Amino acid sequence: MALTIGKQEKAKTAAGKNIGIDLGTANILVYVEGEGIITNEPSVIAFDYETNEVIATGQMAANMIGKGHHGIKIVSPLNQGVISDIDATKKLIEISLQKVENINIDISLSTLLLCCPSEVTQLERDAFMALGTKLGVKDIFIEQEVKAGAIGSGLDIFSSNGSMMIDIGGGSTDIGVLSLGDIVVSESNRIAGNYFDNEIMNHMQYVHGLLIGKKTAERIKMEIGSLREKIENPRQTYANGRDVVSGLPRKIMVNENEIRNVLATPFESIATMVLKVLQNTPAELSADIIVNGIYISGGGALIDGVDEFLHKRIGMDFYISRRPLTAVVDGTKLLLKNRGSYFVKPTD
Ligand code: ADP
Ligand code: MG
Repeated sequence: MALTIGKQEKAKTAAGKNIGIDLGTANILVYVEGEGIITNEPSVIAFDYETNEVIATGQMAANMIGKGHHGIKIVSPLNQGVISDIDATKKLIEISLQKVENINIDISLSTLLLCCPSEVTQLERDAFMALGTKLGVKDIFIEQEVKAGAIGSGLDIFSSNGSMMIDIGGGSTDIGVLSLGDIVVSESNRIAGNYFDNEIMNHMQYVHGLLIGKKTAERIKMEIGSLREKIENPRQTYANGRDVVSGLPRKIMVNENEIRNVLATPFESIATMVLKVLQNTPAELSADIIVNGIYISGGGALIDGVDEFLHKRIGMDFYISRRPLTAVVDGTKLLLKNRGSYFVKPTD
């Protein structure tokens, strides 16, 4: 009896809040006003092949990658910076909103800001808006990740002082030059975290005759990924997989200098992309960027020495965001508070 009354009281007090979702290609993060970041999980979903029922999402689904069987379909629907499976993406948004409701927030009284990779099409944005409406969200709007990421990195994008942001995520690297509250020049390509993992897998296969899985490649990148020039006492880790010739399990040691050589090539491409954006940037904004430097967010910003590497190639100062993995969702807080405004101070 007491429990029933408790539930009713809870339902009565459910309130509307500002909700921010970072729909990243690798991770989905949800911010709720007054609560902070309530979830931060891989953008992965596992379905039953037969019934199409959701078996697992987030970390649980990610743990199944490379270990599934014919009965399970594991999907990373935003894998390449574009949406490869719109229904699965919608399901991820729906599940994120359920988590918000589970902490007693009434989404029919709430405003939702959804941050998407820049390559998401207008059609897909319309589908997300329609989904939000169908699920009963009071008010929904969509912004590009790079804009929220710049705000979350502490940049004052609302001033006339131009700034430049590079977001190196899982499926895409997005670059934006921002001024007066919006993106002036932007560029996106698929050379990002998943691509680095593939390069590590290829290297292991062709140089060491060892087939490794995606998760192992990602672990190696996270543990010893580096862009620093030859290091005296390099960090080491193991790579375990299947020998190409014998077909049997094998384990070898790899070091930081070796992985640096693998990562240097894709990062040369990222440097070329940064140069292209700089060449397309209006002169007055270029002048600001020289003074302010260029900020890097996203998981790729955590690769050791990325700032130093880009500085050597481009000659400008590069800074890593304070919290590269949460910069976008951190930025939603300010964007939600000042929706539609072009003149906001980062301290607001
Ligand atoms: P997205 O916005 O596309 O979801 P994230 O910004 O969350 O992507 O970054 C995820 C990517 O960052 C993944 O490819 C992951 O492997 C990589 N990553 C996360 N932590 C590290 C780390 N410490 N070193 C190198 N790469 C990392
Ligand atoms: Mg991101």
